[in-house]
Amino acid sequence: STPFLSVRDLRVHFSTEDGLVKAVDGLSFDVEKGKTLGIVGESGSGKSVTNLSILGLHNRERTTMDGEIILDGQELLTASERTLEKLRGNKMSMIFQDALASLSPYHTVGVQIAETYRKHTGASKREARARAVEMLRRVGIPQPDVRVDEYPHQFSGGMRQRAMIAMALVCDPELLIADEPTTALDVTVQAQIMDLLKDLQQEFGTAIIFITHDLGVIADIADDVLVMYGGRCVERGTKKEVLRSPDHPYTLGLMNSMPTLNGSVDVPLTPIPGSPPSLLNPPSGCRFHPRCAFAEKVSGGLCSSDRPTLEVVEGRGSACHLTQEQKQDLFADFAATR
Ligand code: SF4
Ligand code: MG
Repeated sequence: STPFLSVRDLRVHFSTEDGLVKAVDGLSFDVEKGKTLGIVGESGSGKSVTNLSILGLHNRERTTMDGEIILDGQELLTASERTLEKLRGNKMSMIFQDALASLSPYHTVGVQIAETYRKHTGASKREARARAVEMLRRVGIPQPDVRVDEYPHQFSGGMRQRAMIAMALVCDPELLIADEPTTALDVTVQAQIMDLLKDLQQEFGTAIIFITHDLGVIADIADDVLVMYGGRCVERGTKKEVLRSPDHPYTLGLMNSMPTLNGSVDVPLTPIPGSPPSLLNPPSGCRFHPRCAFAEKVSGGLCSSDRPTLEVVEGRGSACHLTQEQKQDLFADFAATR
């Protein structure tokens, strides 16, 4: 069957005063209805850029996009602004880290949810208000018939995040893009919001792309995982495959630097040395090579000269010059020294 969302060889390049930034450099993935794809990577890995491309939110004059993004049979990269405008908030919508950025301070929460609904459905004001109350109730806001008339600043951080989710889901979108929506919240509220998203997905059958830097969040919510580094996918697979047997040194590095996955407090965390690459002037060969603990194990200096290809078999694959045999040895040793 054709996937609900299919991204093929996506390239997103920005022209800046300092030169061309290759923010996404050849990315392919699918998302099925009712499933969650987790995209994980450090900041600047291209994960947010990818999703703004799906939503058609880049400045078209300064951005070159190539490849294909097909949502339910419709090509989005070549779609008109008018078409995208119709799709946004309706067929696909997005929630961000910062609810205050997507909620207006000048209007009540209820009016904002109701207007989104009216814009796409043509419902009456009265119907739309009833829908807003219903949505606030569904996302777990107490006394929704009272809170509907309040302004965003009267809501707590967690409640605002819920209100934003209510607004994103008011038109029953089939695709929800969640970009670090819980990062700014404390752990308890974070867990509540994650549970809420899972419940809503069950109820509505929404496909979700969940963007995060935290593999612990991936472990909680994703079905499939895409690990991004320097604008490219370095590893992909089901959540089980990726978290149980990481197949790329970067993924391994992420796992070792995550307190939520590392588990035991006795085991010291090992942050990945160095920082994410510049996409203005990315490293040659494997973009991870300046930070990779295993680059010297690959003979011929291949890591700094040749780009490793991502070979994917049945949705599982990684891009690294190490042989499977080398990985088995090296990764086991690495785990043992933690
Ligand atoms: Fe490390 Fe080389 Fe594999 Fe890149 S290709 S992850 S530098 S071993
Ligand atoms: Mg981001």
